Amino acid sequence: MEFRPTVAEELFRREVQSWLQATLPAGWCDGTFPRPKTAADRVAFARSWYGKLWEGGWAGLSWPREYGGRDLSNREHLVFSEEYVRAAAPDLIDVGVGPGLVGPTVIAHGTEAQKKRILPAILRGDEVWCQGFSEPGAGSDLAALQTRAVRDGDALVVTGQKVWTSFARFADWCILVVRTNPDVPKHRGLTFLMLDMRLAGITIRPLVEMTGVAWFNEVFLEDVRVPLDCVIGEIDRGWEIVITTLSHERASVTPYPRIQSELHGLVALLRSRADQAADPRLRQRIAALECEVEILRLSTWRSLGTTERDGRPGPEGSVLKLLWSELEQRLFELASEIAGPRGLLDEHDPAALEGGRWQYGMLWSRAATIYAGTSEVQRNIIAQRVLGLPRG
Ligand SMILES: Cc1cc2nc3c(=O)[nH]c(=O)nc-3n(C[C@H](O)[C@H](O)[C@H](O)COP(=O)(O)OP(=O)(O)OC[C@H]3O[C@@H](n4cnc5c(N)ncnc54)[C@H](O)[C@@H]3O)c2cc1C
Repeated sequence: MEFRPTVAEELFRREVQSWLQATLPAGWCDGTFPRPKTAADRVAFARSWYGKLWEGGWAGLSWPREYGGRDLSNREHLVFSEEYVRAAAPDLIDVGVGPGLVGPTVIAHGTEAQKKRILPAILRGDEVWCQGFSEPGAGSDLAALQTRAVRDGDALVVTGQKVWTSFARFADWCILVVRTNPDVPKHRGLTFLMLDMRLAGITIRPLVEMTGVAWFNEVFLEDVRVPLDCVIGEIDRGWEIVITTLSHERASVTPYPRIQSELHGLVALLRSRADQAADPRLRQRIAALECEVEILRLSTWRSLGTTERDGRPGPEGSVLKLLWSELEQRLFELASEIAGPRGLLDEHDPAALEGGRWQYGMLWSRAATIYAGTSEVQRNIIAQRVLGLPRG
């Protein structure tokens, strides 16, 4: 496995750089472009920017051409991500479930008709998706979920509750896992659905996170009639599809370019403070973080080999997820020590250091060891599926 981009990949890198330079909104790089303020504005902006990426040929890079993708390698995709972050281009997290999770799942398990309807709409930024997996009693143990679906003519009638459903308020569609057979072991009897969020019987209630942002939602479902052509795969055979989605979730949030850029920001902050920059304890810790980011970079490049070979990320994705999520928390803990009291103020306070960037990052990084599988769950997966130890 070659850890460095090839000559062709470097040429591709230049193509990405020039396109971003020519297409980013005027004033984006010097911070004069007015950033969207409310959650609704942010989603609207992310949708329209995603549409621009598609028009430029930069959406669905590794998806098949017949569904609007470019059939590029995962290595080229990573080069794109490196340049995207280097250019500080718009954050796409609000619209990320469609391209990151739904697309790869539908490519692997959807019917031809489902692929043709869903994939181009995601790439154009026309449809925003959310992920309705977790429930009040089912998170790490997802197969314990209780939301029921009962067949009635040409529909499944769904009743139950989902929680922590990010972006649900702004989503057009949701990937939903429901129990269709309660009389078999819990991993069987599950069905994977596409839920149109405009259907009757859906109530959404926002939940505010400790960052002050309300990404999360509770989603209540009461006798929601989901047409049978919205089932992905077969009724009662949804668990296999869930595994595909989760393996992409772990891999698609491999954020080493972003963490590297956060570290560069922290180094710049330390450099600007001569007394702290001379402190050997801070220097030791920031140098250790630099080594860890390099390990993450090399491990990310190495992991692409598995995905190319097997068509989906392997259990080694858990090693990466552990590595980056815990590293990110250490980085922001150090940042809050270096930044001092002004670093603890949020974006609404005019005295906040760098617009509240360090405060927000520290709070948000706490989520990283929970979503896409907690650290404990990742360690269980590594013990069982990488090291071959018996189930705990
Ligand atoms: C920012 C964020 C966004 C999210 N977005 C979504 C979303 O869009 N859609 C969605 O469906 N879900 C979403 N989630 C939910 C997320 O998937 C769950 O929080 C996660 O799976 C953990 O489940 P839980 O919160 O129920 O905790 P629990 O599973 O109850 O875990 C509680 C604690 O017990 C530990 N634990 C549990 N089982 C084991 C075990 N077998 N061995 C050792 N320790 C164990 C856990 O590690 C944790 O520390 C999001 C979460 C966050 C933080």
